Amino acid sequence: MPTSLSQRPQLQYLTAAIDELKQKGTHFRLRILDDVQAPVCTYDGKRVINLASNNYLGLCNHPKLREAAIQATKDFGVGSGAVRTIAGTMKIHMELEEKIARFKNVEACVVFQSGFTANAGTVSAILGKEDFIVSDELNHASIIDGARLSRAKIKVFRHKDIAHAEEILREIQNEPGHKLLITDGVFSMDGDIGPVDKLADLAEKYGAIMMVDDAHASGVLGRNGRGTVDHFHCHGRVDIQVGTLSKAVGAIGGYVCGSKDLIDYLYHRARPFLFSTSHPPSVTATCIAAFDLLESEPERIERLWDNTRYFKTELGRLGFDIGGVTTPASETPITPIIIGDGRRTMDFSRALFDAGVLGTGIAFPTVPEDKARIRTIMTSEHTREQLDQALETLEKTAKKLGILA
Ligand SMILES: *Cc1c(COP(=O)(O)O)cnc(C)c1O
Repeated sequence: MPTSLSQRPQLQYLTAAIDELKQKGTHFRLRILDDVQAPVCTYDGKRVINLASNNYLGLCNHPKLREAAIQATKDFGVGSGAVRTIAGTMKIHMELEEKIARFKNVEACVVFQSGFTANAGTVSAILGKEDFIVSDELNHASIIDGARLSRAKIKVFRHKDIAHAEEILREIQNEPGHKLLITDGVFSMDGDIGPVDKLADLAEKYGAIMMVDDAHASGVLGRNGRGTVDHFHCHGRVDIQVGTLSKAVGAIGGYVCGSKDLIDYLYHRARPFLFSTSHPPSVTATCIAAFDLLESEPERIERLWDNTRYFKTELGRLGFDIGGVTTPASETPITPIIIGDGRRTMDFSRALFDAGVLGTGIAFPTVPEDKARIRTIMTSEHTREQLDQALETLEKTAKKLGILA
């Protein structure tokens, strides 16, 4: 038996908070994957069609990536042994950064331990107390945390509302201090695309730094998955592009692309880069192999979009509310099924699981209180049969719970 700490009074308020979640019906247990991340896999001992992962291109378990990880471990060991700036920069780290920079057609790139640290580390490093961050209201938590850590003044514009963003930029136009205009490339809860081109126009007009977080666009949008800057033909107009290595790329990590000096500055000032150990060689080698695949097997991305169009159309046809906050609703492989009430959403998610479909329920505070949803994500590896079966289960279960008429 482990030593019990549960009777001590210091943390009783956390127990109370958990009890409150349970009462609201939004408390969850972690679902445990017994085998590998795949379109059909086993969670908690149950075989389910998986509509919940970010494994867009099936790379989490690709044989070439597995092989690259094993080979790098044999050649270079399991750990880098230090932070990048002390003794933990390996040749393979530089190789990946150069590869990504070429892929994205930018001067330079720096890799972080995750997309989260890439965003938070970059925003907090480049802004200070006198500066402004102008941010879409639905931007990712890592951007919000980075903004808070920077102590810059945070100005939030309504979701994808260009006129509102401009109003804010105009208001602060004559203030001293740098201005950072920032958007997600693809919004992670709604699956809609950020208006990168129009925001880039604004950034130029008002002399703001333009930054895009392409976590869900990396490997998904643009030629060979180059992201939203490529999708919108905005090369050379976005100062800072963040991408993730944790979603379509299949491993873990985040990166920042931009000018040589931006990257050199982040080497000197981004705190996760300075104070947290670099990736093990296996992760880096996996990512290198993944970028090779993005270029050599673009058909994966085509399959992803075929599946996406099919699944979205069918969900709509069944009568589900698939968003969105703005029109058009989701334009990407992320498709929310909006239920509204948090408890109802979690009940639906559990019933789906029992019927053989994993669709994660997402409630407050991740999304607004009345916008709870099942978030579905398509991958290139789902077969049409699997999708049809998932749709049938969604329909039956929704009817049983009165979500569909
Ligand atoms: C997932 C996500 C991140 C974080 O990426 P990780 O590599 O998982 O840390 C950052 N921004 C957005 C928009 C995301 O969806």
